Amino acid sequence: MVNRLVTLFSLQIVDDELDELEELRGDLPLRVNGLNAKIKEIQDQIDEKENSRTESLEKRKENEEEIERLTSNLKKFKAQLYKVRNNKEYDALTKEIDHSESEIERLTSENEEFELKGEKLKNEIAELTPGVDENSIVLEENQVELKKIIKENVIQETILREKREKIAEQVKKPDYNVYMKIRKALKGKAIVTINRSACSGCHNIVPSQRQIELRQNRRLFTCESCGRILVSAEVAIEAEKSLGK
Ligand SMILES: [Zn+2]
Repeated sequence: MVNRLVTLFSLQIVDDELDELEELRGDLPLRVNGLNAKIKEIQDQIDEKENSRTESLEKRKENEEEIERLTSNLKKFKAQLYKVRNNKEYDALTKEIDHSESEIERLTSENEEFELKGEKLKNEIAELTPGVDENSIVLEENQVELKKIIKENVIQETILREKREKIAEQVKKPDYNVYMKIRKALKGKAIVTINRSACSGCHNIVPSQRQIELRQNRRLFTCESCGRILVSAEVAIEAEKSLGK
């Protein structure tokens, strides 16, 4: 029986190491994803502002061309004023002149606004751009680190997986199923020792009679509070020894 418990506990030790590896690897991909999202968000803002700036520049150019056309018309109208033959013609021309002048005024003030808007957008883009660069540098560093960790991890994981397979072969099928069921339900530790009279999985006190029975290593006990398999310290020591620790 003792061997049965030792083997089961060895499985837990190896699984703990595998969990640690996964945890180590787990944080970085999240960080990389987060940074990618952040960079995209800033880049989208920049693109939007760039588009708006281009649009404003185009409108300014259109307005300038229109101002030019109106100015040249205005010149013609003013020259024609000297050649009018009647009041009707005079009125029509002054109306055209007034209209051209007010249009030029309107377009000029619109362009001043466009210029201010363009300047504001330019500044905003200049403020946002370093954010992309900074995040890209951090992202690159994280990606390099991630690759390195994954590479080291893969080697270690292969070794541990082989070790686990060998141990798992020695575990009785029902024990293995119970172990896996608890491990899945409690996310990690399925088999624990008693530490200071308490289950080291849930820290609840184990009745002293149960502790005595446990120390005899005669059967499989589970914690009444959390349902984890409980083993004596002796079993834990033997398991570590068997793994060369
Ligand atoms: Zn417990």
